[in-house]
Amino acid sequence: MSADVLDVAALARDAVRALPLYTADSSACAVDVSDNTNLWGIPPAARQVLAEAANWASRYPPAHSTALNAGILRYLALGAADDVRIVTGCGSDDVIDATMRAFAEPGDGIAFSAPSFSMIPIFAKLNGLAVTSIPLTERYDVDAERLVGCGAKLTYLCSPNNPTGTSLSRDAIEYVAANARGVVLLDEAYAEFAPESFASLVERHERLLVTRTFSKAFGLAGLRLGYAVGQAPLIQLVERARGPYKVNAIAERAALAALEETESGLGWVRQHAARAVAIRDRLASALTAMGLAPLPSAANFVFVPYARAEELAAAMRAREMRVRAFVGLPTDLLPLRQSGGAGIRIGVGPWETMERVLAGLEALS
Ligand SMILES: *Cc1c(COP(=O)(O)O)cnc(C)c1O
Repeated sequence: MSADVLDVAALARDAVRALPLYTADSSACAVDVSDNTNLWGIPPAARQVLAEAANWASRYPPAHSTALNAGILRYLALGAADDVRIVTGCGSDDVIDATMRAFAEPGDGIAFSAPSFSMIPIFAKLNGLAVTSIPLTERYDVDAERLVGCGAKLTYLCSPNNPTGTSLSRDAIEYVAANARGVVLLDEAYAEFAPESFASLVERHERLLVTRTFSKAFGLAGLRLGYAVGQAPLIQLVERARGPYKVNAIAERAALAALEETESGLGWVRQHAARAVAIRDRLASALTAMGLAPLPSAANFVFVPYARAEELAAAMRAREMRVRAFVGLPTDLLPLRQSGGAGIRIGVGPWETMERVLAGLEALS
């Protein structure tokens, strides 16, 4: 082989060469509560779309998803808002990535609270951004003044926060949205399970983008569809940075069906989100009764600080149950200090599934 062939890695961008390939165990497992998806499945209205997709999927989707964008705005109760728009993407990850490209040059900074969504440092590094993380406060809120003090081009907030499940206060979010130097991205992937959404704040804050997804409450993770809402000038820039045709036609039509005010569309989504909330609280009580100390969750998962998280997850996996183990999280929060920065995250689903997980944990923890 010639040196040219062997040296192909040298041709890559530094950031790409330095980043390991993202891996997630997706081998078959009887009980998988590791990724916070909708464990009841997909809305019946969307199922119908998938069954018919073979008839039209040979054609391109519309260049601008006008119908979907209007449907999302109605869903967010922002249909009548002046100058508020939607940009969709291949998952909200794609929208987050495009936002970084739109507003931060390589070398610029992104600030966020830790622990938070593990994808943020990955996309930040790929975009050549310098990351600054600020610990969450003991009340699981962002330290708004310190975050703003970073003076970053981009500030990322997540509420309810992954992996802790905890939510941020309206005051802290508003303070950051009003005072941050650059663009503020509020990730609301789990808003459907939380007592309140902050999406309407975009009406008052011209530099605020709120991202949401069809991957969690809407049960469409495999179709990859997410979006951001914000004022038109901001949204147009994200859309330019994202590029055309990122959302596939099947995802678009399935989402439109799921957004319809019908029993099999939005009715199903709302009913199952409410079910997840009730079961989440029941799961948290059961975990507490076992002597564990789950963090207060506003999402469809619970985080349980646990020192030997990896061993526990491996033992669960051997029993055909997959939970997500975290190690090396920042230890500023007391429960994480006590667990050495480790814990497991359990996605919420039908109670029978939770009973199996609880039995596994009871036997192993
Ligand atoms: C799951 C998740 C998302 C959604 O990602 P998609 O790309 O839309 O599937 C976004 N943010 C957080 C914090 C998440 O946990």
